[in-house]
Amino acid sequence: MTGAAGPLVIDGAAIATVDALGTEHPEGHAVVVDGRIASLGPGPAPPVDGARTVDGTGCLLTPGLVNTHHHLYQWATRGYALDSTLFEWLTELYPIWARVTQDVVGQAAAAGLAWLARSGCTTTTDHHYLFPRGAGDLLGSTVDAAGRIGLRFHPTRGSMDLGRSQGGLPPDSVVEGLDEILAASQDAVQRFHDPAPGAMVRVALAPCSPFSVSTELLRQSAALARTLGVRLHTHLAETLDEEEYCRDKHGCTPVEYLDKLGWLGDDVWLAHAVHLAQAEIGRLGATGTGVAHCPSSNARLGAGTAPARAMLDAGVPVGLGVDGAASQEAGRLVDELRQALYSARSRVDGRDSASASGPAGSKALSAREALAMATIGGACCLGRDDEIGSLEPGKLADLALWRLDGLGHAGIADPVAALVFGSAPPLELLTVGGRVIVERDELRTADEAALTADLRRASKAVRPHSPPPPTSPVPPTSPVPQITPVPQIKE
Ligand SMILES: [Zn+2]
Repeated sequence: MTGAAGPLVIDGAAIATVDALGTEHPEGHAVVVDGRIASLGPGPAPPVDGARTVDGTGCLLTPGLVNTHHHLYQWATRGYALDSTLFEWLTELYPIWARVTQDVVGQAAAAGLAWLARSGCTTTTDHHYLFPRGAGDLLGSTVDAAGRIGLRFHPTRGSMDLGRSQGGLPPDSVVEGLDEILAASQDAVQRFHDPAPGAMVRVALAPCSPFSVSTELLRQSAALARTLGVRLHTHLAETLDEEEYCRDKHGCTPVEYLDKLGWLGDDVWLAHAVHLAQAEIGRLGATGTGVAHCPSSNARLGAGTAPARAMLDAGVPVGLGVDGAASQEAGRLVDELRQALYSARSRVDGRDSASASGPAGSKALSAREALAMATIGGACCLGRDDEIGSLEPGKLADLALWRLDGLGHAGIADPVAALVFGSAPPLELLTVGGRVIVERDELRTADEAALTADLRRASKAVRPHSPPPPTSPVPPTSPVPQITPVPQIKE
């Protein structure tokens, strides 16, 4: 595990610590002992007995990136519904997802995790909410995959209990019963959650979204999570369709709905949070509720652009997420830094009341703020900011060393600008708890060719017998089913 690697010294690199003061060193060192940062600072490293030394000349050392939202099983279902909205995309994908098995999920997860590692990610969450009957130990297969690739892993026991017959979006074949979900959630925490310092696996509970789970499941999941001492996660305020659904069914916005259920708090992080009123942004900030900002996914599905600037100004902990690979086929976390920057700077139209009080346009987000979202912001969302997300003595040695002296970046004097504004740089080294996961852009913990072959098999196993039709728009003869409001649930 984390302590298996011997001492490691990185010398001669530029360093962006992303600590509270934004400390940076044009040329410095880091020393790793027993999986943690033993020392870090400007100038050359002190002598360390028995250490392996990596020459960081021409490189930038940052905290490993933290991915706050993903659905790893979707790595096997990429390339479908390419021009669809969220609800159209889900409607096409649910029947395909209903075919997943333990093998498919394990193979997809290993491939997705390997690809994340190759993009500088050292900690990732996974929102797994799909449990077709008889499909095997799906959550266990993702935990096993994370162990094989070597990333720090925050899987969630997700859930859906609101099938189409009950007014939800998913077909009844992919939802579970309330009692079944609660029992499985408790089991997942007992099997996999490690509250100890330095943990490689921590579990959260994650009902899927307001349009696929019942009010009672949200309420009881929150109570169970708080009894068990684990965090809560869900999708929220992703699209205007979702807002319309909540207004029809619950008479309020998605944020107001969660607030009524006691779901806002510093033990909760929400995926997306695109459509928010200013007062709702303030409420997220006041309650310490985190947000997994997924700019590429939001753009891919045409969902809108999250008010990242306004959320940061309101004190909302904001992390970055690649989101499920089926709605964001690239799945590279380092790319989200630039996408976050571009998205924030794109919100300049007159309808953006949320950020009207703050800087807009080219000043809406800086390179350093994007890097902070991808590191310490994500760590805050996962409740791990005391251990990961910045480079400080005593913290876990989850490190990314980016090579910036090649054709793509040479000549850019500011290394953080080179990382965020430039193309994704080669990854010289990636460590998790001091263990080398990637070196010189090669995965060192598993065979990429074997992972690729497995991924090909997994994708084939779930593909419909007839190839998917050419991309949407959905033909008028088979419209997306309309969601029919169900009777108001008494609060
Ligand atoms: Zn998602």
